[in-house]
Amino acid sequence: MGFVDLKDKRFGRLVVVEKLDIRKQRRVVWRCKCDCGNYVDVMSTYLTTGQTKSCGCLKKEKERKNLRESYDNKRVDGVVKPLYKGQEPRKDSSTGFRGVAKYYTRKSKELRYRAWITVKGKKYYKSGFKTAEDAYYNGRLKLEELHLPKEDKNEP
Ligand SMILES: [Zn+2]
Repeated sequence: MGFVDLKDKRFGRLVVVEKLDIRKQRRVVWRCKCDCGNYVDVMSTYLTTGQTKSCGCLKKEKERKNLRESYDNKRVDGVVKPLYKGQEPRKDSSTGFRGVAKYYTRKSKELRYRAWITVKGKKYYKSGFKTAEDAYYNGRLKLEELHLPKEDKNEP
């Protein structure tokens, strides 16, 4: 059984160190060393297709950067935070929760709830909730946490 030898090859931040004896989904798994110093085991396909380019640190950095950018944006033109802050779910939407909409799954036509939020013209979604309440507390509120600029807190 042949396989492509990826040893010593570089994929983004990862350099392939060695082939492991284990297989995942009958594929070869490689131990890679990330530029940040972490080791991570990755299947060949993820490396060759470029799906995996780091131990995960790349993604984390991006998220951090996005967070910082949204914070910087706030300083420039600002989101009207009081619009969202401390509001209990309103009962005037079809689901009874602000920022929560019903939908049906494409194949099985099951009822699901999707949380959404619009921040400065951009829409963000979280889907797949089974109840409107779940979508509000685990979707909408998470989205607010993620996408609304953080307030400066002066805690004692
Ligand atoms: Zn890394």
